[in-house]
Amino acid sequence: MKYRSTRGAKDNALTSPAAIIQGLAQDGGLYVPVDFPKANFQLEDLPKLSYKQISAMIISLFFDDFSKDQIKSAVINAYSEQWDDRSIVPIEKHNDNFYMELFHGPTLAFKDIALQMLPQLMTRAVQIEKIDRDIIILTATSGDTGTASMRGFANQKGTRVIVFYPESGVSPVQLKQMLSQHGDNLEAIAIKGNFDDAQTEVKKIFNDENFRKKLNQNGFQFSSANSMNIGRLVPQISYYLYTYGQLVRRREINLGDKVNFTVPTGNFGDILAGYYAEKLGLPINKLICASNENNVLTDFFAKGEYDKRRKFHLTNAPAMDILVSSNLERLLFDLYDKDNEKIASLMNQLTQRGHYQVDKEVLDKLQTIFAAGFATEDEVKEEIHRIYNYDRYVIDPHTAVGSYVAQQYKSKTNDQTPMVIVSTASPYKFPETVYEAITGRVCPQTGVAAIKKLHDELGGQLSIGVRTLFDHEPHVEKVIDPVNMEAAISSILDLK
Ligand SMILES: *Cc1c(COP(=O)(O)O)cnc(C)c1O
Repeated sequence: MKYRSTRGAKDNALTSPAAIIQGLAQDGGLYVPVDFPKANFQLEDLPKLSYKQISAMIISLFFDDFSKDQIKSAVINAYSEQWDDRSIVPIEKHNDNFYMELFHGPTLAFKDIALQMLPQLMTRAVQIEKIDRDIIILTATSGDTGTASMRGFANQKGTRVIVFYPESGVSPVQLKQMLSQHGDNLEAIAIKGNFDDAQTEVKKIFNDENFRKKLNQNGFQFSSANSMNIGRLVPQISYYLYTYGQLVRRREINLGDKVNFTVPTGNFGDILAGYYAEKLGLPINKLICASNENNVLTDFFAKGEYDKRRKFHLTNAPAMDILVSSNLERLLFDLYDKDNEKIASLMNQLTQRGHYQVDKEVLDKLQTIFAAGFATEDEVKEEIHRIYNYDRYVIDPHTAVGSYVAQQYKSKTNDQTPMVIVSTASPYKFPETVYEAITGRVCPQTGVAAIKKLHDELGGQLSIGVRTLFDHEPHVEKVIDPVNMEAAISSILDLK
């Protein structure tokens, strides 16, 4: 199957391995399938399939240039003993909602689902494309992508990872994870700015032709581990299908019944994977886009105007502190019937003027499948408290955004459709907020010390992913100005 840019003509389409290696199209667009595939499964197959089987099925559907054996070994490597739950994605029922727990991987957030897989795909793509240069994974992160991509790519031959994250914009645990991850091919650097500054600069560096030439001459080439990379997005479709199958299997729903998913959203990758699952025929009634106080998307789904000209808030759900949600571009491409010129023009307006408006028709389409809402920092804490009080189930602040918005949606609409809340991080990844929400007292410590405090409060076994946080000593943090990001890359790679 071929992939094209959302901003370019389809004659420039690439194979899937080439699109995965490229990461981001040279015209600034994102890779999407030229023809969206038809499902290679029947709905009634889903309850019988394991997570690994569904993952292999979806990857072979979208990435058919990889051989069956390559996909099989990739799936086995990605979803094995580094997960603390053998089902990979356990589903919990609490207070009438289902929580799809995506945080049982090595860095305790849902990014692991895709970032344990992407390095497997990348190394195989490099073989298929017969590339002899080293692949430089250049990544902007609001916290979790950085940790998960460093972990996923650590010591993978022929790859190096350079991560840029906002100084003071990630949680103490995320920071510790990045600064203590072992691997001689890894680098994490703080920038004086927020996530959007990092992401904008990364996109700029990607599209700097001279820099690209210089890299190539030195035997390197860029790729991306952000959800802008199609190789990261596709593996995320699997958990929507798997969860649906499991709900049928447990007789919580009947085959063919519709479900709702509420998705804590930042860069719009996770929820877009849900939209792709729906396009493959999964019976989804609504995808509910949950934001924190950076609620650009809530306004967008209400009015059809995307307007980033607003204050940037640092919140207690930092992985969602984003004003420019890159993957929305893929959704718009679809809703504008693949009109790449229209998409290029909208994205250009966003860069130039800070906002754009979609047509009424497109807004109508958006509103038939999506709903949206947001939670403030206080509402996040209240929601963690409410859920904990009900039956001692503990959720993290990002999941709490989703849980709150799901509840708000239900009471506003009276929609009785079974609700799945996408649980995106372990509560131990954000122990300070969770501790405060549960006990009503400010946590006296941060980082791993706060994990201990929270554990004292909650009891029970700590997962292996949490326990390893106590092991390694972090490096000293490096901080630079965003304008010096390119220079920093040159120096790390020792470019001539
Ligand atoms: C990245 C992340 C999100 C947002 O996901 P997107 O795909 O960027 O929308 C939500 N919660 C957590 C914990 C995350 O790490």
